[in-house]
Amino acid sequence: MKKLWKNCHIATMQDGKYNSIEHAALVTFGQHIHWIGRESDIPNDNYAETIDLNGAWLTPGLIDCHTHSVFGGNRSVEFEQRLQGVSYAEIAANGGGIASTVRATREASEDELLASALKRIRCLLKDGVTTIEIKSGYGLDYLNERKMLRVIRQIANILPMTVRSTCLAAHALPPEYKGQSDAYVDHICTEMLPKLHQEGLVDAVDAFCEYLAFSPAQVERIFNTAHALNIPVKLHAEQLSSLGGSSLAARYHALSADHLEFMTEDDVKAMASSGTVAVLLPGAFYFLRETQLPPLESLHQHGVRIALSSDLNPGTSPALSLRLMMNMGSTLFRLTPEQTLAGVTIHAAHALGLQDSHGSLEVGKVADFIAWEIEHPSEIVYWLGGDLPKRIIQHGNEIFV
Ligand SMILES: [Zn+2]
Repeated sequence: MKKLWKNCHIATMQDGKYNSIEHAALVTFGQHIHWIGRESDIPNDNYAETIDLNGAWLTPGLIDCHTHSVFGGNRSVEFEQRLQGVSYAEIAANGGGIASTVRATREASEDELLASALKRIRCLLKDGVTTIEIKSGYGLDYLNERKMLRVIRQIANILPMTVRSTCLAAHALPPEYKGQSDAYVDHICTEMLPKLHQEGLVDAVDAFCEYLAFSPAQVERIFNTAHALNIPVKLHAEQLSSLGGSSLAARYHALSADHLEFMTEDDVKAMASSGTVAVLLPGAFYFLRETQLPPLESLHQHGVRIALSSDLNPGTSPALSLRLMMNMGSTLFRLTPEQTLAGVTIHAAHALGLQDSHGSLEVGKVADFIAWEIEHPSEIVYWLGGDLPKRIIQHGNEIFV
């Protein structure tokens, strides 16, 4: 069924630029974009439906390419304690921090995890996000990681969104393996990953490469297992220290390396040559009051694609709006609104391996787009929060959240 969407302007985001078409129209055929161009050139055809968009600006549906949006409980009480002066070390010693989220996630049933995640992800959808990546990583054993990944698959069946599932079993060391991180990595490589992959639950494999998590040598073993299973990899790298994780990610042709505050010029070059996307996470940078900026000039200079994401998680980025993250990314990381919009569309699609079908408005790609009531695309990045009036179209159908 062909639908004609007319009376609009379009920021296609092809090649990471607005590539604007003013006084434009778009034709969808089923779930895909069939034609795109100027209103004066609309092809003569029998359209099942014609939709007047009242001069709205169309952009691709937004892509949130790094979230931990499935978890039990939340950490607002710890947030309060921290601001009362209790140190993170004390909170962790009392069973707080990531350990408390692991406990709450293990205690929650699939239905409970699903219900709480849906509430958060609906906020993102309402904000214009039509594709989301969600990581496991709070279960840290086979059954609980499996539970999280199954919830992620269910979210894809319930919400009108494209959902990618990433196994982050190497997020933290589970309490059962205290002092035996190599044994846990063995367990991931020989038991968890092969089984979870066989059940069809894993689209990508991620790990947290950091002095307080897993070493580059351990990450390399996990990446080797992922490669043997033919699963693409991603990495949390260089958030708190410089371990060469992003170079390691590049060596394994990772889809993305994420955070990157402490990456070096050599890391940047390695990522540029492998085409690995740099995913920057302004929410965590802000929430942890970080001061070390990622090497932005160097990333631009070497032509590394930069994506932005909410990093939605209970500990360091309880972010329910990708648009707010876009404003923060622009302000904190000095990205232009055009670069920022590219960071949540075409570059974010690359970070998920979805660049051939998602992330820009081009003939043949899926018809995921947002019709924003704005005067110029920069407004999407300019406003701080709020509910920007919009219509959300996913796979050629308008959806109502
Ligand atoms: Zn993360």
